[in-house]
Amino acid sequence: MTLAHILGYPRIGANRELKKASEAYWQNKIDQAELEAQGASLRARHWREQQAAGLDFVTVGDFAFYDQVLNVSLLLGAVPERFGRFDQGEIDLDTSFRMARGRAPSGEPAAACEMTKYFDTNYHYLVPELHAGQRLRLASERLFGEVEEARSLRHPVKVALLGPVTWLWLGKEKSEDFDRLELLDEVLTVYGQVLSRLAEQGVEWVQLDEPALVQDLPRAWRQAYESAYNKLRSSPAKLLVATYFGGLGDNLQLATSLPVDGLHIDTVRAPEQLSRVIDNLAPYKVLSVGAIDGRNIWRTDLAALRDSLQDAKARLGDRLWLAPSCSLLHVPVDLSAETELDTEFKSWLAFARQKLDETVTLARLLDGRATQEDEAYLAEASRALASRHESTRIHKPAVASRLAAITPQDARRASTYFQRTKAQRQRLDLPLFPTTTIGSFPQTGEIRAARRAFKAGELNHKDYRARMEAEIAVAVERQEALGLDVLVHGEPERNDMVEYFGELLEGFAFTRFGWVQSYGSRCVKPPIIVGDVSRPAPMTIRWSEYAQSLTQKPVKGMLTGPVTILQWSFVRDDQPREATCRQIALALRDEVEDLEAGGIQAIQIDEPALREGLPLRQDEWQAYLDWAVECFQLAASVARDETQIHTHMCYSEFNDIIASIAALDADVITIETSRSDMELLDAFQEFSYPNEIGPGVYDIHSPNIPEVSWMVELMEKAAQRIPVERLWVNPDCGLKTRDWSEVEPALEAMVAAAQELRRRH
Ligand code: GLN
Ligand code: ZN
Repeated sequence: MTLAHILGYPRIGANRELKKASEAYWQNKIDQAELEAQGASLRARHWREQQAAGLDFVTVGDFAFYDQVLNVSLLLGAVPERFGRFDQGEIDLDTSFRMARGRAPSGEPAAACEMTKYFDTNYHYLVPELHAGQRLRLASERLFGEVEEARSLRHPVKVALLGPVTWLWLGKEKSEDFDRLELLDEVLTVYGQVLSRLAEQGVEWVQLDEPALVQDLPRAWRQAYESAYNKLRSSPAKLLVATYFGGLGDNLQLATSLPVDGLHIDTVRAPEQLSRVIDNLAPYKVLSVGAIDGRNIWRTDLAALRDSLQDAKARLGDRLWLAPSCSLLHVPVDLSAETELDTEFKSWLAFARQKLDETVTLARLLDGRATQEDEAYLAEASRALASRHESTRIHKPAVASRLAAITPQDARRASTYFQRTKAQRQRLDLPLFPTTTIGSFPQTGEIRAARRAFKAGELNHKDYRARMEAEIAVAVERQEALGLDVLVHGEPERNDMVEYFGELLEGFAFTRFGWVQSYGSRCVKPPIIVGDVSRPAPMTIRWSEYAQSLTQKPVKGMLTGPVTILQWSFVRDDQPREATCRQIALALRDEVEDLEAGGIQAIQIDEPALREGLPLRQDEWQAYLDWAVECFQLAASVARDETQIHTHMCYSEFNDIIASIAALDADVITIETSRSDMELLDAFQEFSYPNEIGPGVYDIHSPNIPEVSWMVELMEKAAQRIPVERLWVNPDCGLKTRDWSEVEPALEAMVAAAQELRRRH
């Protein structure tokens, strides 16, 4: 029999119960007992769903009040000292919240742990802090308690836990001259204890997630894998090492030869590895095949999968397990909540709850023990797929022919930067150290209320427009009073920088409850790119033109770039990502052309997600960067010489992608730098970055008003690296999360800093 299981389930709850309960607890509206009860009831509900779907295990250990990586840090007692000393006893919930958020209902506030993206997902984990001589111990009983809860269902329990090597891999070294692999033995001792305890509780299988195995590993880390799993081989529980988000590549031998009882591989991202893995797998091991897409929301082609897995089934027999490719944490919970989607479109989708059924059905189909219901389910899936394949909603001949007609010239500005900058300087008449902002101004409660009323039909279109125009007028007036050089309209009409464009483009769809956990209690609802993307009508022109009509100063048009729109959406799985990205780029290209025709002299195309789109393997970087750059250029290059193209990025690592940043050939790039003391500009200097740069001079995440002298000093540091004629003065990022009471004095100081710089240079 083919065994069906999952690597993990979303814990947030179909109605975001966990988000609401956690936030209520942080605000002292409910007590800890109530929060714990809410957590327990969500776990029970999710296990019951897994059991009812017919999975062979319920998976325990995927629940977390904040983050599953943090949970392992707590299990190992890896609590940084600023949160107190925890040499013995259980680490309490509030300490975990202080690590995650800096504060909790009890305990002293302290600086929260750093948060960063989990591999190439939009899920953020809390980075383990590691230092020389760190002592670890089994410091949390939570996992064992959850196992007890699950056992009361009288269904087999499998425990899922982040593996020891990947936990270390994700950690950050906090002492000098220290290699975090030095802690491996210490980590393994505790893992050994955990595994023994779980076995005592009657747990037969423990899944250890080791997604680091799909990345390029230094030799020492490959050796660490061998020695780690050699140490754990005496574990009384059976171990399933889980890899996902990509293929094993050069780690295939290593992964298949680990002395464990089973391996999970991702055959959605890397279908080609299946037969090679089977070739290399010892005959006593099980292979869990991750064949259902855990990263996307499309319904599975069960018939095709049944056929393509026949060979694996024949070779592995009962050693074949089936699962989604990775934890279902990365998809929304339940499609059946989407009562407002039309039935055709809905039939193309599967969320976490539906993926349970797909997994179980596929297992039975492969075994030849399918019920009539399974056959009907399969037929329905095939029908849905056929309808998706043929739908006019997906294939737009006009988009296809436009894509086919792209030439290399379309992705290149007509003239070089040196020619363009002359035309732009003449037209814009800017001073040295021109000042600007990144786009958004405060999204006040009134703005959000107006949008809600508009969406609910309580505010008509005309009144909504008047409200937004009033906001724009205020923003323009304030910028003029502050003396900024290049203005923005302030983006009051935008709920979100991707959703706003998705709603206006053809080819996008939206769910009502399609929430996915991003970090802690924060969830996002990514748009779905269903079909060919096109722009039925201009999207931003009216707002920009209105703003421009109010002032003699140039107002920047403001667009979200194609790569960022792609990256922050669920993307089609029936064509390469780059094809979808090109379609978006062409739609934006039309917008650039229209903005320009409407008299807009500078246009910013934001690409904050360009870097996070980098593949997990370095040898795939260049191919990605090439098409990402091409897409940006396709959108931008239609602009005439005298139209200044800006871009904006807000992350702090440019070193390894600086050549591609330069290849974007934006006339001006504004970046986040204030917290790095301008050291970030080293990469630009070393590369002799040729175009203009606005290194952010103050951190918009902080409510503090920056000092003039401090910003002047930062810019002086910038001027040591970049010629002053090519420097701009601007904040780190958009200002939508701030109050006007913070924004006005901060920008006033920023303009004063620019004036001082002009006096000096
Ligand atoms: N123009 C956007 C804003 O100012 C950019 C946001 C971002 O970089 N994430 O809000
Ligand atoms: Zn930004």
